Amino acid sequence: MAENTNQTGKGDNLSCLIQDTVLTLQENVKCEKAVKVQKAVTACIKFFLAELTKEEPLFKPAELIQVGSFAEGTKILEPDEFDFLVVIDELSKPGAVAVDNNPEKVKGYTHLPHSGYVTLAVADDNLKNKWEKYCENGLLQCFQNSIDRSRFGSIFIKVIRKLYVKRVFLKKADAVVTCTSTEIDFVNFGMGMPAVDDIGLNLRRVEFKTPNVLIDFKLDGMKISVDLSPAIRYYRITDCFKPEDCAGAALSDAILNRESLLLVANRNFDFRVTVTEAEVGYIQHIMKHEHKGIYIFLKYVNYLFETKRNAWEPYSSYMLKNICLMHDLNCQHETRTITSCFKDILEDMNACCSKLEITSAVNSKIDLCASSPLSSDKMTFGYRQHVVDALTKISQQAVDIHTFEDFKELLNSTVEKYLKRFQDRMDEHFYLRNDA
Ligand SMILES: [Zn+2]
Repeated sequence: MAENTNQTGKGDNLSCLIQDTVLTLQENVKCEKAVKVQKAVTACIKFFLAELTKEEPLFKPAELIQVGSFAEGTKILEPDEFDFLVVIDELSKPGAVAVDNNPEKVKGYTHLPHSGYVTLAVADDNLKNKWEKYCENGLLQCFQNSIDRSRFGSIFIKVIRKLYVKRVFLKKADAVVTCTSTEIDFVNFGMGMPAVDDIGLNLRRVEFKTPNVLIDFKLDGMKISVDLSPAIRYYRITDCFKPEDCAGAALSDAILNRESLLLVANRNFDFRVTVTEAEVGYIQHIMKHEHKGIYIFLKYVNYLFETKRNAWEPYSSYMLKNICLMHDLNCQHETRTITSCFKDILEDMNACCSKLEITSAVNSKIDLCASSPLSSDKMTFGYRQHVVDALTKISQQAVDIHTFEDFKELLNSTVEKYLKRFQDRMDEHFYLRNDA
């Protein structure tokens, strides 16, 4: 990609440069090899889940749903991150479970009454006995770590260990394995998985990080991270989702049209309400491609901030997605260009930094920063403000840029400059505080 030409009909410099950047960022994730990797990863996970079901039939999966950026087509750089939800069959039949937000039962160990979480009781009388060992105080607690009880994640670890012991897979002489009840690590080697379509993944590590299972593979030097979360399909959507709290009708219609949503195990008794399938569908088919391009571009600049100078991630992808979704649902431009919408989105991001919150597009009562103290911290928003300032600078200076190479250089140098500015300010703060 040498010269930046204005052949797209969308004319302006910045729009073309962002478009070119997005194409380059997705070269390795939108290709035959990436699809092969995805298939191999999916096959491995399905194999593990089949073994898990042998160990504990109650956890038999109904579906393995791929979610996250690879599924929605917004992954950048390499096919190295895959997110799955495993839908537990028996709990996902209509009427199997019911939302039960009784605060007495959860005794303070919960996010409730905050929006976005529910607690669940087994509702089907035929299932109550069977699932009792995975309940406490009558509420489901099957996916959490527990020292004395087996859980979805601990059984997963056990199954991997058994597979290894059975030497189903290639074992090398210098093999070292470290195991705990929540973790298995194949040090200095890996457990070779059967090849799928020439892709032979190497299992390196499995960790039960309540309530998710994190699985690391290696393929030709590339680390591939898989995040697997158990989930329950739930049909009474309006128990957990209020259309009036959603940022726009196009999104709430997409959610309601699905006829079910997913409840993903969180900590303690909490299940997080997620409409991720509707979101993925929306981003794939409904979101305007200009907005999707901006989202991908923002993810990249955010990634540059995270990876240069050993800094940390200013925004989660989910935050950036919500900011762009919110714009998509409310975009007023009749003749959209990436540049015009990008400027609006930067204004929205500035507003978030002033208000110290990032609202969910699905539920206006949810502040996406509220989940952790660090994320809602003033300093973190100061950092995010530097990202917005860098993006603003980039959009201003792009006027004079004519080649993709120069644009890349502009991105790198601007991020470097603003990151340094932020870090200097942090240092000043630190020393001032210590002098006082
Ligand atoms: Zn727009």
